[in-house]
Amino acid sequence: MKLMAVEAQKETLGFQAEVQQLLDLMIHSLYSNKEIFLRELISNASDAADMLRFEALKDDGLYEDEPELKIRVEYNKDNKTITVLDNGIGMSREDVVENLGTIAKSGTQEFFNSLTGDQNKDSQLIGQFGVGFYSSFIVAEKVEVTTRKAGAPRTEGVRWTSEGAGDYTIETVDRPKRGTKVVLHLREDATEFLDGFRLRHIIKKYSDHISLPIIMPSENTGNDESSDEARKGNGKEKASKLVTADETVNSATALWTRNKKDIKEEEYNEFYKHVGHDFEDPLAYVHTKVEGKLEYSSLLFIPSRAPFDLWDRQQRHGVKLYVKRVFIMDDAEQLVPAYLRFIRGVVDSDDLPLNVSREILQRNKTIDSIRSGMTRKILDLLAKMAKDDSEKYAKFWKAFGRVMKEGVIEEADKIEDLASLFRFSSTQEDKEEQTVSLMDYIERMPEDQEAIYYVIADNFSTAKNSPHLEIFRKKGIEVLLLSDPVDEWLTTHLTEYEGKPLQSVTKGELNLGKLDEDKEEASEKEDSKQSDELVDKIKKVLESKVKDVRVTNRLTQSPACLVADEHEMGRNLERILQASGQDVPMSKPILEINIDHPVVKKLAEAEGEQFDDWSHILFDQALLSEGGELEDPAGFVHRLNNMFMALDSSAKDD
Ligand code: ADP
Ligand code: MG
Repeated sequence: MKLMAVEAQKETLGFQAEVQQLLDLMIHSLYSNKEIFLRELISNASDAADMLRFEALKDDGLYEDEPELKIRVEYNKDNKTITVLDNGIGMSREDVVENLGTIAKSGTQEFFNSLTGDQNKDSQLIGQFGVGFYSSFIVAEKVEVTTRKAGAPRTEGVRWTSEGAGDYTIETVDRPKRGTKVVLHLREDATEFLDGFRLRHIIKKYSDHISLPIIMPSENTGNDESSDEARKGNGKEKASKLVTADETVNSATALWTRNKKDIKEEEYNEFYKHVGHDFEDPLAYVHTKVEGKLEYSSLLFIPSRAPFDLWDRQQRHGVKLYVKRVFIMDDAEQLVPAYLRFIRGVVDSDDLPLNVSREILQRNKTIDSIRSGMTRKILDLLAKMAKDDSEKYAKFWKAFGRVMKEGVIEEADKIEDLASLFRFSSTQEDKEEQTVSLMDYIERMPEDQEAIYYVIADNFSTAKNSPHLEIFRKKGIEVLLLSDPVDEWLTTHLTEYEGKPLQSVTKGELNLGKLDEDKEEASEKEDSKQSDELVDKIKKVLESKVKDVRVTNRLTQSPACLVADEHEMGRNLERILQASGQDVPMSKPILEINIDHPVVKKLAEAEGEQFDDWSHILFDQALLSEGGELEDPAGFVHRLNNMFMALDSSAKDD
């Protein structure tokens, strides 16, 4: 009892620090695009109606005496206010504090860490985060939200008020109607929006696709935002006059149910912003109606850029599931495979029960068919984009390529299709940007080349500068440069493409076959007794570190490199697994030495302790150049210093 009394009191609370930061950023970033505040408020009202419709499947008492869901937009020139009203799910006091006082999105911290503090630069990032409710403050100096949760008693209404600077107040109020009313007290520089024509235009432009009616009082009968109260208070006559004077501004049909050819591109774009909680246009979309044994519509979008929480396992806002036009759930992960988790949109099925739950979805044949149908559509859309609009595709790949590559793990049966969509860096261009398709690579292959070669390292420059590439560069053989973390998994699953094996240049004996015609004479020259002796000597010194030492045919400029045995998992993968805490022993590498290199020649002349030291240095530098970590860095430094000292004394001796 006591608690309730305290709660009913007016309370002033501070915004979570990030909210304030977001507010400032938003006001700065969206100043030239103020009108989107209305889109965001209507989008929230529509979500609230969806939520109510869904909850009411279990308890239709939630409709109270108002089963028709709608959104009202009103304005008042004298008070300089705009009001957006809905009869959706509403919010409890707790909901209000959580939703309007904090940012409950996963990945928020990472987003704020990525801000630079330079508002102009940071403005670019806001789209990644989505704008939402706080965009009210672009036009309002004060925002008042009055709300009551559906089903709660009228005494549990809540009023939230804020001027968007540091704090907000919250109080419990009497609220007969369920749902939410947002009143914006406009700033002096935003009074242009106190115009019925302008507001209608904005609603048409951004919110036409909203499936419930958006109502405005018609122009000649007044535009008093308090009509809500007037209707019930001031006599029947006035009320009915106001009701008949209402006018529905939008089309009020679910966009995906409409005929494709009647839908304009802008309508698709605005719908995307609503379902995707994004404020940029999508990169592409695909709208499908499937009829026959299985009936569903889907409208799927590829965003223009990666959301800030792409790598967050708990991210939400995926594809929304509707059953017979009723919203069922957000981000049903069964609807698209995880590697397509950046896809946004809706699917509306006629074949699922309205009471379908996440558990049911997990083992449901209808969902399986829908998922594979939609996956096919998306892969086809991407293949077409790659073919017709390479610039757009490059943008797509830059944003989502690393996620797409996960597909080879998830979908073994689509591996060839997926591989055709992949783009890589290669020695052809030596650029970090991934633009080379496997087909491009194959088309450039010399006739005698049998494999698709690649090198993997944990970053681009290590891959690009890998000593293993020297012979390939010399002979003009293209090698793919892989450095995304997922590439290790990619290459274990994608082992061939168009009949050509994918071959690591750091594994096994290098056999360039006919490509390496001068190899024969070279090795004859090199297979001398002398080099055999040197190899044996080094092997003895490095016994505990290497599996074998041999003369290389890969190197032209570096003295040595490490390779893994043909059937081992690869050294980079071993490092990744170890770093992730898995108990994989690092297998011993093979040291390959470049017998013609001056450093190796110098080593051959060394003796005793010096020979041992230099052999270790040779091994350690090969390890460093592939991005590995030294087991004994201090030992390395010590030996290096000894080498300097030896240099010094030999210089004096001269
Ligand atoms: P988003 O819509 O992306 O979740 P917003 O900033 O637009 O983010 O809204 C924040 C949250 O506030 C919503 O997720 C919702 O829980 C709540 N909310 C906002 N407007 C309403 C409303 N009209 N009715 C009920 N809840 C609302
Ligand atoms: Mg929103």
